[in-house]
Amino acid sequence: MSERKTRTPLLVITMATVAAMGGLLFGFDTGVVSGAIPFLQNYFGINDSTIEFITSAGLAGAIFGALFGGKVTERLGRKPVLLISGLIFAAGAVWSGLASGITSLVLARFFLGIAIGLSSFTVPLYIVEISPARNRGALVSLFQLMITIGILVAYFSDYGFAEETDFSSWRPMFLVGVIPAIVLIAGMFFMPESPRWLFSKGRNAEARTILSRTEGSNAEVMAASILAELEKDSQNCSRWKDLFTKTWKIPVITAIGIMFFQQFVGINTVIYYSPTIFQMAGFDGKVAAIGASIGVAAINVLATVVSVFIVDRLGRRKLFFIGMSGMVVSLCLLAASFLVDLGSAGKFITVGFTLLYVTCFAVSVGPLVWLVVSEIFPQKLRSLGSSLGSITIWVSNFIVTFTFFKIARLLSIPGKEIVVGGETMANPAGSFFFYALIAALGIIWGYFFVPETKGVPLEKIEEHWRNGGTPRNLHTKE
Ligand code: BGC
Repeated sequence: MSERKTRTPLLVITMATVAAMGGLLFGFDTGVVSGAIPFLQNYFGINDSTIEFITSAGLAGAIFGALFGGKVTERLGRKPVLLISGLIFAAGAVWSGLASGITSLVLARFFLGIAIGLSSFTVPLYIVEISPARNRGALVSLFQLMITIGILVAYFSDYGFAEETDFSSWRPMFLVGVIPAIVLIAGMFFMPESPRWLFSKGRNAEARTILSRTEGSNAEVMAASILAELEKDSQNCSRWKDLFTKTWKIPVITAIGIMFFQQFVGINTVIYYSPTIFQMAGFDGKVAAIGASIGVAAINVLATVVSVFIVDRLGRRKLFFIGMSGMVVSLCLLAASFLVDLGSAGKFITVGFTLLYVTCFAVSVGPLVWLVVSEIFPQKLRSLGSSLGSITIWVSNFIVTFTFFKIARLLSIPGKEIVVGGETMANPAGSFFFYALIAALGIIWGYFFVPETKGVPLEKIEEHWRNGGTPRNLHTKE
């Protein structure tokens, strides 16, 4: 039976979907804060910088989780780490929902951040290792799809729990995160470990049993190729210093670069600050706050669905170039819409360009980065390589979100300031032009460093780097 005609076993789809719940929690816990902010401000009587502190605690926790999780995932396996992150998500949701004061809340957000950081590389890692090559793209992209759904669910749930007169409304907003965490724990409990990881630990019999369920008639061929590739590495070669060697130079540059560009095109300035941006465009406060967040989050989900369906047909490189080019154009148009007077239609045009920009992101680098990073490292270094990618994404996220308004001020054109609710703010056009420039540089970088991994078995990718191959000739050589 040819591989093409083989159906993906239901078990693989179930394993990928259950693990992707980690993505839903990632999205939920990054999205939930925005709706809670006004209530936290009233309840604790805190100012913007304390709020910034609460938000950044989550990001700092994610960096921490990504940094230290790589080794743990290599030693303990993918499944235990997914279970541990589920437990942290659950405990963190309860802790932040019941927090008695600011310090406790900051610590709880840091704690939750650790789970976000852990799941940000363990989920794609687990899915990539259980997926058949032909639809690996779609299955790993489920992770990003769940992130986007998590963000949307958080906005809706925030909206549902928001009681104007009840300042403690932030508590249920955080507490409800315990539900998806329990689903993740309960589901993962029944899922098998990644067979590739088991082989790398010499647990061949267990690995073979699982592989026969995930690969069907192809299992023996797969087992032979996994074991053959594993033999090429010495026993102990899963340390950081083994990653930074000449053989793995390209996957290292690709992982750091693609994560850097995913963040430095500025996506989270729109995800986090869309209410402010829409107010700057001319909408009144309330409409901007609700409509902007939900509109942006909904288009993010829809465009990611499209990506799931086309990533294994179009391939990684084409999607990367299409999305990045679309972002260059939409960012320039968005920036221009803040500089040119477009009359009464102006604010709708700005919203249109924002949604176009989010669509281009969601169809391409949104899901692609998790996929590519989890595909390009050799078996024994996949945990560390993926954790390196995640560290890059969280540090970049931190820098971009904290410099958005500063860059806008730095690049502002005198006379083009915008007044929002009586406060004069720098025009965001400068920031958007800056991100457009970075996206353009990303296209040039991507020409040399984004590999076409579509349909190529993981072991072949590994072999390709060993043989000194380049990202551009990966697919054509197979
Ligand atoms: C990014 C996040 C972003 C989200 C938006 C993820 O891939 O890493 O920073 O908020 O996509 O959908």
